Amino acid sequence: MNFDDLLNKQHLFFDTQSTKDLKFRKQQLKKLKQLLIANESKLNEAVYKDFKRSSKENLVLELYPMYKTIKTILRKLDRWTKSTKVSTNILNIPAKSYIKKEPLGSVLVIGAWNYPIQLSLLPAIYAISAGNTVIIKPSEIPSHTSKVITELINSNFDEGFLKVVEGGIPETTALLNLKFDKVFFTGSTVVGKIVYQAAARNLTDVTLELGGKSPAIFTKDANLKMGVKRLVWSKYLNAGQTCLAPDYVLVDESIKERFLELVYKEIEQHNYSIHNENYVQIIDNKNFKRLEGLIDKDKVSFGGETDENERLIYPTVMTDITLEDKIMSEEIFGPILPVLSFNNLDEALHVVKQFEKPLSLYLHTKKRNIKRKILNEISFGGGCVNESVMHYTNSELPFGGVGHSGIGSYHGKFGFDTFSHQKAIMDKPSWFELNLKYYKRTTTKVKLIKALILSMFRY
Ligand code: NAD
Repeated sequence: MNFDDLLNKQHLFFDTQSTKDLKFRKQQLKKLKQLLIANESKLNEAVYKDFKRSSKENLVLELYPMYKTIKTILRKLDRWTKSTKVSTNILNIPAKSYIKKEPLGSVLVIGAWNYPIQLSLLPAIYAISAGNTVIIKPSEIPSHTSKVITELINSNFDEGFLKVVEGGIPETTALLNLKFDKVFFTGSTVVGKIVYQAAARNLTDVTLELGGKSPAIFTKDANLKMGVKRLVWSKYLNAGQTCLAPDYVLVDESIKERFLELVYKEIEQHNYSIHNENYVQIIDNKNFKRLEGLIDKDKVSFGGETDENERLIYPTVMTDITLEDKIMSEEIFGPILPVLSFNNLDEALHVVKQFEKPLSLYLHTKKRNIKRKILNEISFGGGCVNESVMHYTNSELPFGGVGHSGIGSYHGKFGFDTFSHQKAIMDKPSWFELNLKYYKRTTTKVKLIKALILSMFRY
C-alpha cells in the first residue's frame, strides 16, 4: 500500500470540511458502534484465538466500555465543541474573545497488543469526535484481532476518513515518516521514544501512552482484606498484561505475613488459574520466555508454574525481593507479583523514587497524613487510594502518564481535547481605537501605558 497516497486522500477528505460537521461525526460514531455490536462474536473469537481471552471477559474489558464511551461522546459532543467565551482585557475593549475547538487534521493511531481492540479504536473514537481523519495501525501481535478490525473498518468506511493499516515495524516506520497532524501512540517507553523522535522531524504533535513500574503500597493501617482483594484482581486480570496493573507491592513489614496469607487465599478462592475460563495466555512466546526469565525460583512463595505449550504462567508471588533482583529491572507486564517490605514510609518512598515516574500508583491506607505525603511527594500518571486500576474507568479523570510513562492524556473531555486545537480568537469592531499603541512613543504615552498595564489591566 502506498501510504503517501493514503495520507493525501485523508488530507483531501479533511479539506472537504465534512468532518467539521457535527452530524457527520455523530453518524460515523453511531455507525462504528453498530458495526462493533453486530460483529461482537467475530471480535470475541479473534481475541480468543490470539490469547484465549473469553468472550465474557472481552465484552467486559474491551467492547462495553467502548460502547459507553461512544454513548457519552454523543451526549456531550455539542457541549465540548462549543467555543468557550473568555473575558477580554480592558486594552482591547470593545472586543469578544473566545476559544474555538478545531480538529487537528489527519491523525495516526498506533495501538498496543494487550487490549487489542480498545487501544486501537478508543483513541480513534476520540479523534473522530474531534473532527479528524484517522489512520489506525493496530498491534500486529494479536494477528487475528488485527485482521478482523481491519476487515470491519476498511469495508465500511471511506479510507479518506478512517482506515486501518496492518503491519509491524517496517509499516509503522513508513507511516511515521509522513507528516501527520497528530500521532497517538500506545506502547512501550522504548518505542515511545522512537515515535517521539520521528514525530519531531515533522513537528507533529504526539500523545504517548506508555508503561512503567506502577507500585501498590500497603501501610500498616490499611484495610488489608479489601485492599488485597482489589490488588489481586487487578494484578492477574488479563494475566498481568495490563499497562496500569500494579507491578510490585511495598508492604509494611509488620503486616507482611498477614498480607501474603490474604493474597494466596484470594488467588486460590477466586481461582486465578487455568481453571478459570477468564485467565488468559501470555500473548506470545517471546513474552512467555521473557516472563519465565524474570521468575527466580528461590524467591517464589506462591505459584511459579509455567506451561510453555499453552503459554500459561500461573499467578505467581515472589518475596524477599530487593532492587537488585531481575524482576525489579523492568516493567513486568505479566502475572508475577514481587513483594518488598518497608519499616517506615520514607523507605517505601525511596524505593518508588528509584524508578522513572510510573503510570499509576495505588496507595492502601486510611491515614490522611500518609495520603497527603505520598500524593504530594511522588509523581505518577494517575492512580487510586484504597483501590486498584479503577480510576481508568472514570472518564471524568484524564488517563495518561508523566515523564517516562507518557505524554498527554485522554478519556472523556480530555480525549476530545487531545485531538483538538484550541484556537484563540479576538473579534474586534472597527468603530473605536485607543490609539495608545501607535508611534510615536511619547513620554506621556509610555507613562500612560505603564499605568494602564501595571495597575489597571488584567494582563
Ligand atoms: P510496543 O511498544 O512493542 O508496540 C506498540 C506498537 O508499536 C505496536 O503497534 C508495534 O507494531 C509498534 N512498534 C513496535 N516496535 C516499533 C518500532 N521499532 N518502530 C515503530 N513502531 C514499532 O508495545 P507493546 O508490546 O504492544 O505493549 C506493551 C507496552 O505498552 C507496555 O510497556 C505497556 O505498559 C504499554 N501500554 C501502555 C498503555 C497505556 O495506555 N499507557 C496501554 C497498553 C500498553
